[in-house]
Amino acid sequence: MQKSTGQRSLFETQPAWVEDDARQGIVATVVLPDGVDKPLDYLVPEALAAAVEPGRRVRVPLGRGNRERLAYCVAVRAGELPQQPLKAVAGVEDDAPLLSPRMLELTQWMSEKWLARRGEVLEAVLPAGVRAIRKRRGVPLLVATGAAAARAPTPAQAKVLAAAAAPATAEALAAQSGASRAVIARLVKTGLLAVAGVADDLAPADGGRPRIVHDRPDALAPAQTRALEAIRAPMRAGRHETIVLFGVTGSGKTEVYLQAVEETVAAGKQAIVLVPEISLTPQTCDRFRARFGRVAVLHSHLTPAERHAQWREIVKGRVSVVVGARSAIFAPTPRLGLVVIDEEHESSFKQATAPRYHARDVAEWIARAEGVPLVLGSATPSLETFARCLAGEWTMCRLPDRVGGSQLPPVITVDLRDPSSRSRGSVTPRLTAGMKWALDAGGQVMLLLNRRGFATHVQCRSCGHTVRCPQCDLALTVHRPGNRGICHGCGLVTRLAHDCPECHAPHPAQRGTGTQRLEEEIRGLFPGARVARMDTDTMRTRGSHERTLDAFRAHEIDILVGTQMIAKGLDFPSVMLVGVVNADAALHLADFRAAERTCQLVTQVAGRSGRGQLGGRVVVQTSTPDHPAIIAAGRHDYEAFVRSELPLREALLYPPFGHIVRIVVRSIDEQAAANWAEHIAARLRQEAAASPAEANDPPTLRVLGPAPAPIARLRDRFRYHVQAMGRDEAQLRDLVRRATATLQTPDKVAWIVDVDPVEML
Ligand code: ADP
Ligand code: ZN
Repeated sequence: MQKSTGQRSLFETQPAWVEDDARQGIVATVVLPDGVDKPLDYLVPEALAAAVEPGRRVRVPLGRGNRERLAYCVAVRAGELPQQPLKAVAGVEDDAPLLSPRMLELTQWMSEKWLARRGEVLEAVLPAGVRAIRKRRGVPLLVATGAAAARAPTPAQAKVLAAAAAPATAEALAAQSGASRAVIARLVKTGLLAVAGVADDLAPADGGRPRIVHDRPDALAPAQTRALEAIRAPMRAGRHETIVLFGVTGSGKTEVYLQAVEETVAAGKQAIVLVPEISLTPQTCDRFRARFGRVAVLHSHLTPAERHAQWREIVKGRVSVVVGARSAIFAPTPRLGLVVIDEEHESSFKQATAPRYHARDVAEWIARAEGVPLVLGSATPSLETFARCLAGEWTMCRLPDRVGGSQLPPVITVDLRDPSSRSRGSVTPRLTAGMKWALDAGGQVMLLLNRRGFATHVQCRSCGHTVRCPQCDLALTVHRPGNRGICHGCGLVTRLAHDCPECHAPHPAQRGTGTQRLEEEIRGLFPGARVARMDTDTMRTRGSHERTLDAFRAHEIDILVGTQMIAKGLDFPSVMLVGVVNADAALHLADFRAAERTCQLVTQVAGRSGRGQLGGRVVVQTSTPDHPAIIAAGRHDYEAFVRSELPLREALLYPPFGHIVRIVVRSIDEQAAANWAEHIAARLRQEAAASPAEANDPPTLRVLGPAPAPIARLRDRFRYHVQAMGRDEAQLRDLVRRATATLQTPDKVAWIVDVDPVEML
């Protein structure tokens, strides 16, 4: 801190007319979590000088009324004060920085890359529990005192007291007993519950004991050894490198991650392992827990207090391995040694709300900044990743065979257009025969159908009218029981009429098959079999995934019907048949990644079959058996798909050869949405014409639209989109920044900017 110059304190306010030497002082630059996007400068009063530092939050007066706001201090400098007087910081919120200098730098980069407000990014990298708890004193733990009650406790109170036999947070007690916070507060008041320390001292809530123990294999397969060596080399040299494990399902990728993490931990460093979604990848998490006791599993069911406790453990370096979804990349590890992203092609690594960051890019930035390896693994790497390997930027290690010599299952493609494959339902005779073969041999079956509900739409047999959501441009899906029409866009539930709302003809047809109808059809075809269904409708309660998967593993279920939920990361040796009921379901969506996603999904689910001694098969039902995505998945040759798809992307400047910025405009008023989208598109074209890129031939900047978005209306809002595309990322971002900098958004209109979107609907 700067010392006083003698005559007067540095911090004494001077009248503006004093013209002696320039005033000296300390200035803090702060960013508000919302509202004003511009960083603001405040004077740091002497009393607060020691406490104001980058990464802590401070309270600052804002606006004419000088209302106090919480803001993130992002920089502090000492020196000459500016001409115009500054307001002073009013107080300091945190007793230690919440963000390291590196994290602050990261948030700056993120806000530039994804055109997001800095405050929004700062909020996104800190878990809610950390932001909410002032002074971070920890959450009180409550315990039943056993004191005699004046009245006998009510049943609700008794449940809480039973749950409080061991110290637990109020949040945990409420979750366990189902009692409200008021009931718990009352028990504290009456002395039946007492505070017994703070949750701070808790071991990380890692969600329970591992159910399965995977033994460390005595030896790695040669391809695994090569992959591990490729990770070790930069790790030991202390330099950054991105290594992509392109390995078929069951090729031992996870074992390679585990051993790379072992080495990281042995060196006293921490590893972050990202998975698409914790509840869908229980086996991966179990394997990490079984191998390394202190694993912080950051899953979506954690309460803010639990998250906060985890965060503190990680900050202190008491946790060696962090496993979690997208946001776990921000885990504040003090000595990061390795980052792993499993199933790196999954779209869940991109955040769908602002800031719309991609965890893969964030991971690369962090790994580069820390000088540590980044490992990306997948049986079906994204085209973005593939291209960077082909360009020699990243290192690709191939693991083409399953460990233990089991073969990838043969795939039978059933052409749904062929009259001989007709059936009454959605399961063809070939698929039925395959299922029978597997069940007769004592095996299990998995059926993938990526549409939930009973029927995908209701259509009048007389006038052809399709029943749509009144708020969205989407057909209602039929769900049973109760003949409900549910909108998969906004969640609206309505009772379906028994006649056509247009022409009143009776009994409109329920067309298209969802997982509910499929389950019913399967029960009819295989009356003796035990059938279960896994989709978001059946998996609503905590633990339901684990229960169903445990039952499937214990072979209490013969046939598992499900959506893409069943396609990921599961390893069940007795699955002998995997059936893909409709491989084309997502192929014709208005999304340039439709083919890539289809190939990935079919390849991934096919890989669930034949993992055990009994072998297995895959049956893929499709109306487009000649599509490169289907052919490649049928041959377990994902790379063939990549090679056929890349030139198509290049010709159109789509990723990975170009970048896209998608702007979506929404309004309750269709004309207002269309006009504003038109205005933005015009501004973009103006700027593009003024850009030096315009001189390139062919042009390297393009503006598409405006056009109604593929989902043209959602929750009563009309949606229009504009896409700006460019070969050069920085140039494209600049274009969008310039075009949108001074826009005054009209009333009733909202719009968002999505850089490198993965969602195109
Ligand atoms: P992937 O992540 O590529 O799907 P895993 O690492 O899960 O592959 O390996 C598939 C199965 O093979 C797992 O049950 C794993 O325990 C086992 N396994 C992996 N590596 C070896 C090895 N070197 N020797 C024996 N079994 C192995
Ligand atoms: Zn709707």
